[in-house]
Amino acid sequence: MIYYTQSCISPSVKIYAIEGNGFSGNIFFLDAEKPCLVDTGWEPDIAYCSGEIRELLRGRNLEHIILTHRHIDHVGGAMSFRGEFGGEIFAHEADADALIGADQESTGATLFGGRIQPMPVTKLREGQEIDLGGGESLRVIHTPGHTSGSICLLTGKGIFSGDTVFADGGVGRWDLDTGDYDMLLASVEKLAGLEIDDMYPGHGPCVEGSASRHVSLSLRQLQLLGRYG
Ligand SMILES: [Zn+2]
Repeated sequence: MIYYTQSCISPSVKIYAIEGNGFSGNIFFLDAEKPCLVDTGWEPDIAYCSGEIRELLRGRNLEHIILTHRHIDHVGGAMSFRGEFGGEIFAHEADADALIGADQESTGATLFGGRIQPMPVTKLREGQEIDLGGGESLRVIHTPGHTSGSICLLTGKGIFSGDTVFADGGVGRWDLDTGDYDMLLASVEKLAGLEIDDMYPGHGPCVEGSASRHVSLSLRQLQLLGRYG
């Protein structure tokens, strides 16, 4: 289901969450001067939410479709959304080639029984700002570990955390292709150094208020898993 989050990001950027459907990751629609999506779910068939997104777009096109990492449950709908609503697809440079070339292995498509299509991707780097219009933007934070090109997106005191950290101390798995425990640990340490209130993760519930506390829990959890896991 789609719902409006009580975002603290800015009065001019409203965030709508479309909760993951089955294996799908969460999809976020950012109703900004330049509307955009963060992640696109698993399904090439986006029919289950395209009507709602069309309504939210009010006749506009999407400007950006930003993918937090290469996995099929986050990128599977990208080409369908682009076909229906336009938008330039972005991903971190370390994950982009797997998407451009539709690498079925490292995107998890083969492992999880799906198929991804090749897609045109504009490459992102650490620190880059993605313009949302109206003076608002998303800053790219490279957080490798779940995949080599995983990113989080920071705006104000809100963060889209992909599969790097989840609510209540959850952390992304690091045992898939291009995953790495030490890199994930360094990435979560980096996130723990940020002052954030709201967190919009790739799976599960969003956190509104006290997100830094959830990230600290993730860090502790990850350190314990590294010691005993
Ligand atoms: Zn993932």
